[in-house]
Amino acid sequence: MIPLNQHPSGRHFLQIPGPSPVPDRILRAMSLPTIDHRGPEFAALGLEVIAGLQQVFKTRHPVAIYPASGTGAWEAALVNTLSPGDLVLMFETGHFASLWQKLAARLGLQTEFIAWQGADEHLPNAPGWRRGVQADLIEARLRKDTERRIKAVCVVHNETSTGVTSDIAAVRKAIDAAGHPALLLVDSISGLASADYRHDEWGVDVTISGSQKGLMLPPGISFNALSPRALEAMKTAALPRSFWAWDEIVEMNKSGYWPYTPNTNLLYGLGESLDMLLGEGLDQVFARHQRWAAGVRAAVNAWGLPIQCADPAVYSPVLTGVITPVGVDADAVRRLIHTRFDLSLGTGLGKLKGRMFRMGHLGDSNDLTLIAMVAGVEMGLKLAGVALAGSGVQATMNHFANSPAPDAVSPLPVEGVAPTASQGQIRGGHLTTA
Ligand code: PLP
Repeated sequence: MIPLNQHPSGRHFLQIPGPSPVPDRILRAMSLPTIDHRGPEFAALGLEVIAGLQQVFKTRHPVAIYPASGTGAWEAALVNTLSPGDLVLMFETGHFASLWQKLAARLGLQTEFIAWQGADEHLPNAPGWRRGVQADLIEARLRKDTERRIKAVCVVHNETSTGVTSDIAAVRKAIDAAGHPALLLVDSISGLASADYRHDEWGVDVTISGSQKGLMLPPGISFNALSPRALEAMKTAALPRSFWAWDEIVEMNKSGYWPYTPNTNLLYGLGESLDMLLGEGLDQVFARHQRWAAGVRAAVNAWGLPIQCADPAVYSPVLTGVITPVGVDADAVRRLIHTRFDLSLGTGLGKLKGRMFRMGHLGDSNDLTLIAMVAGVEMGLKLAGVALAGSGVQATMNHFANSPAPDAVSPLPVEGVAPTASQGQIRGGHLTTA
């Protein structure tokens, strides 16, 4: 057996953009004994997690849960709604949009892959991988489709390979403005439960998500949130499906069960995750991630390195991509940081290989975890010989100290000591009280 703890001193810093660090509460919940998945206790759990997920997806409609990674839920969304040879319009925002397009083609769908066309000084080979979905391009393409050949529009909400989010409400508006009947399928595998998401309000037909990102669980379960139109499309969709078929799952879920063996212990974890997220309040969860992201971006700006996302309007609250100077292999920097500081960062994927790395700010985290991540990255960049314009660590500390979280941990008041940073400001590296 391989040694299970390769990190004898302190803990490993898992700062990839998923799988995210899992809170102890969730780990403990998953360590409970496995129960009979056909017994009465299980039904209560099944009903509870489905109801909680509906709140997180913001939907009144069914949410199918699969014992599979996110890729399985991508496939499920397509095979339940489409037929062989159907044309789907997909938008190339990055590596995950590209993988979904390949998967669709392998299933026998025709895919049309459109992308932002423009010049980018830092990444001339992947300009569209620095921006979100351009809804106007989708509208223009749908207007031309007078024969209504396009059956679905597929977009990624939070492109994990780039750290760019996309405006899903704008995509819905574009489809409606073109008066087109195409279904809207959205991958929010890394957006859900970290970034604002509204399945019903935004008119999404299928939202695909996974366990290992904002839900703070290990990998292994994934989701399809459905709409009435998606359920209607299922009745005539002719792509072969069995394991992924919604009909039996949705029917059995009504009583809290599944047609096959569900992932019992991950569902315990999901119950705990939902308690944590809904207990905190989704708006607070989203604000917390936005604040973390701004603190991490402050470091990148202080270093003087370009952020992968070129449009501040769509910066991801989940992760930040950093482009390394030409000639500096981002993967060599990552390896060095991993070896020296036991800190894992996300690699550059696909067209971005070697040109950038990704810092995750999701999962079980807090201000100090993120300052430590920034410190590890800053030391690694310096060791790799990258000239930095300034101290990212100082910039992140300033950001967090000067913009305290609304519910900043407030220890019992100690006489003469400001209980939270809201009572002091850091200027020039020194804490001053008003
Ligand atoms: N889509 C996005 C946006 C992702 O981030 C990922 C995984 O990171 C996937 C799809 C694929 O999911 P999985 O690796 O769980 O199959």
